[in-house]
Amino acid sequence: MADLTTKLIDVVGDRTAKVLESGIGARTVGDLLRHYPRRYMVRGELTDISELKEGDEVTILAEVFSTNARSLRGRKGTILEVVVTDGTSKLSLTFFNQAWRERDLRLGRQGLFAGKVGVFNGKRQLSHPDYELIPDGSDVDSAIDEFAGKYLPVYPATAKMPSWKLAQCIKLAVDSLDEVQDFLPEEIRKKHGYPTLKEALMHLHQPEDIDQADQARQRLTFDEAFLLQLLLVVRRAELRKLNAKSRPVRDGGLLEEFDRNLPFTLTAGQREVIAEIEGDLAASHPMHRLLQGEVGSGKTVVALRAMLAVVDSGGQAALLAPTEVLAQQHLRTITSLLGPLSHGGMLGGSENATQVTLITGSQNALSRKEALTLAESGQAGIVIGTHALLSQTVNFADLGLIVVDEQHRFGVEQRDALKAKAGLPPHVLVMTATPIPRTVAMTVFGDLDVSTLRELPSGRQVITTHVVPAIEKPAFVERAWSRIREEVANGHQAYIVAPRINATSSADADMDFLFGTQSTELTSVEDLAPTLESGPLNGLRIALLHGQLPTDAKEETMRAFSQGQVDVLISTTVIEVGVDVPNATVVVIMDADRFGVSQLHQLRGRIGRGSAPGLCLLVTGAPADSSARARLEAVAGTLDGFELSRIDLEQRREGDVLGVSQSGTRSHLRLLRVLRDESLIDQARSDAQNLIDNDATLAAFPALAHELKILQADENADYIDKG
Ligand code: ADP
Ligand code: MG
Repeated sequence: MADLTTKLIDVVGDRTAKVLESGIGARTVGDLLRHYPRRYMVRGELTDISELKEGDEVTILAEVFSTNARSLRGRKGTILEVVVTDGTSKLSLTFFNQAWRERDLRLGRQGLFAGKVGVFNGKRQLSHPDYELIPDGSDVDSAIDEFAGKYLPVYPATAKMPSWKLAQCIKLAVDSLDEVQDFLPEEIRKKHGYPTLKEALMHLHQPEDIDQADQARQRLTFDEAFLLQLLLVVRRAELRKLNAKSRPVRDGGLLEEFDRNLPFTLTAGQREVIAEIEGDLAASHPMHRLLQGEVGSGKTVVALRAMLAVVDSGGQAALLAPTEVLAQQHLRTITSLLGPLSHGGMLGGSENATQVTLITGSQNALSRKEALTLAESGQAGIVIGTHALLSQTVNFADLGLIVVDEQHRFGVEQRDALKAKAGLPPHVLVMTATPIPRTVAMTVFGDLDVSTLRELPSGRQVITTHVVPAIEKPAFVERAWSRIREEVANGHQAYIVAPRINATSSADADMDFLFGTQSTELTSVEDLAPTLESGPLNGLRIALLHGQLPTDAKEETMRAFSQGQVDVLISTTVIEVGVDVPNATVVVIMDADRFGVSQLHQLRGRIGRGSAPGLCLLVTGAPADSSARARLEAVAGTLDGFELSRIDLEQRREGDVLGVSQSGTRSHLRLLRVLRDESLIDQARSDAQNLIDNDATLAAFPALAHELKILQADENADYIDKG
């Protein structure tokens, strides 16, 4: 008898075991049983042949309608044409020099047929399909009883293993199963009315009815969510056990002075989040908090207040930005919000004042050296930087807080590299560029506490978004340029975003997973600028910005733009996140269909930051009825970043939804879909939390502890792989 760890060789024999290993990577009974059916075919319910499309790899259930074997004209050999039907439509199967198959494929027999749909003489066909006939009354050979049930599982097949051969192997494995150790605590299993693990595996592969299969699938999906949440809950509990320096808010400090001089009133949402963060900072274990907020909701000032609280306690804060443009902007914004409070150490300044410094990869040796000294001596209470902050040469006197701005560009590894620079584990605040649905946050950032800023500061004006179809309505594009002229005439500024730097550079947009390698004529910054300068935007002050410009040039351009010395900034997506110039009121996005939904929402978030209404124009050559156009209409239809993020994620593969931060666990997620299985994830989270609250080491659940260890080991292995 076998259990889940039994080698397949002992169950299916040497040769088949090899095929299973190379085909689907299965070595043990457990591996094989985790190769779940994609769907079921019901004996007698034939597949709708009219739906088959040329090029599809299909497995269909059909009935033999006619057979016809003949010699090939003028050549040696025979051709057997078998026509199968679903009762309405027909499909032909062709076999060369296999006329003997006619004996098998008798009229009226039903079978599974697998192959790639081709077209010959205008008719769809499968040539040399694999097939397996369903036993009927006339079959004495009861050995083929893998089809005994009414429901035939259809597996993701490989070239060497059609679905029913897998079904045969899986049947052998299921039949050989002895006891299966169920790692799911019985109390949880019973509460949800789930079958045992053994029942679930048997029912999923060989259901007696669809309900049974559904329940099995529910249970196995829950297992995935539960183990993942358990991993995250345990990790969170472990983080809570670490010691950190408590940084309670101090009276009469820098923070208090800052608040007095703040030019606006904090929103209720900001105050709420600030209270949560201050509570965390005062604790003697490290904060691990995710701050997600709508674009423009004012995350920076929230983070800055946390940094100031840490400075007041004698510590330092590091602010990690995803791009140089953003790091430079943070330096400008923070220094100007602080005013004289950033002149620490200078004569006549406030006693509470500190210094703010910047570390980036491309700054010159002298300014880098100065910045390194300020960080190492502790004179700089706030150190802003790009990934250059992670370099070994950067040291801190007392790093108390790490703020990661616009998280989706930073991985866990980078965060960890920075943590290594502090004595005791520092407090960590992560801010996301894109608000994401709750269960995705729970899964991707499940070891973090989450704060959400939904409201925008009051006084914000509406942003209107229009799709501009460049091909159908070229006059609309002309109108876009004149709208820019009008805004500039009113003292405002504009962004124009293009997907490429120049004709030869690759696209700087994120929809390549949809477009593959297909190359289209895309607008580039360097081509667009002279055309507009000498044409529709003649006379306006225009500047270019993209990632390949030298640091100084980028810095100078952004500074000039934010001070109103440039009217129109023509840029790549380097301005995608974070850039904050409230006087800008228009953004025109060229080839908008090449950008992801969340990316467009972020780009649009560059405007509507001040007191004047904003206009966002999405220029596209995509045809009116295309899915690309539908995506753009969705962006035009709402300003709700959470909703758009959902639309965005729905179009991505599950792996992309989870992102790099979960790559180790990803291979364990076969059934779970974070967007679809929300209530299941919620349930799994609270079950995992309760369990750990009562039994932190899972002492009473050895099988579960073992399963968790496997998952943790895979995560770590994956982490090490990435170096
Ligand atoms: P994001 O959350 O997208 O990072 P920012 O932090 O850049 O947003 O804030 C957007 C703009 O709103 C900034 O110009 C900031 O100074 C301003 N702001 C932040 N909080 C408030 C507030 N409570 N009232 C008015 N303006 C605010
Ligand atoms: Mg920001």
